[in-house]
Amino acid sequence: MGPDGWTIAIDGPAGSGKSTVAKALARRLGYLYIDSGAMYRCVTLAALRRGVDFGDPEALAAVARSCDMRLEPVPAGLKVFLDGEEVENLLRTPDISRRTSAYTANSRGVREALVVRQREWGARGGVVMEGRDIGTVVFPGADLKVYFDVAVEERTRRRVLDYASRGIERTPEEVRADIERRDAEDKGRPVGALVRAPDAVLVRGDGKDVETILAEILGLLPAGGPGSR
Ligand code: C5P
Repeated sequence: MGPDGWTIAIDGPAGSGKSTVAKALARRLGYLYIDSGAMYRCVTLAALRRGVDFGDPEALAAVARSCDMRLEPVPAGLKVFLDGEEVENLLRTPDISRRTSAYTANSRGVREALVVRQREWGARGGVVMEGRDIGTVVFPGADLKVYFDVAVEERTRRRVLDYASRGIERTPEEVRADIERRDAEDKGRPVGALVRAPDAVLVRGDGKDVETILAEILGLLPAGGPGSR
């Protein structure tokens, strides 16, 4: 545990709703919430804007090292700024998702640069960080590691609704194919792959509401509650 509290790592596949859960958990504990996926997405956006060749991992790494990315915790979660502009809404498109898992997240240099920033943000504890490699690479000594999983059918339904609410039209077949491709990429990459850490607790979200999942995770915290250690 750091001076500001526990370090909580939540890893899991795309579209599982782990952001909603991680955000709610951070709010409940009064902790910092960090969405590491937003950081990878932000590098993708910066690379697109700079006209970088996505086939060049070193060029992507240079973007990760040099881009002006800022995360600002707000009560609703997190605001992401790139070069001073709030970009959160631009990060969640099918194109950014695809490029991020197929290219940006495969660059060792990108991962190294982002892991450094993630560790800085989490250095004092009191943080809920979600992603793919938080419990395995970023914070292997985390106080609590959760591997959050949901069946692909439910993840597909959720993502279709999410896109529709933002005016992005995708058929369930397209969305499911995207999710399965990202799962394969996220689980198959040589560095920072999505894998359940041996000491991560498996939490399944299928058919459960956020409050139920939250109660399950709070019950896993060491010694019952914050400040009690
Ligand atoms: O979590 P989210 O779906 O927004 O992440 C976008 C992509 O970023 C993932 O599909 C994955 O390829 C990559 N990522 C990663 N490591 C993390 C977080 C995200 O490789 N810790």
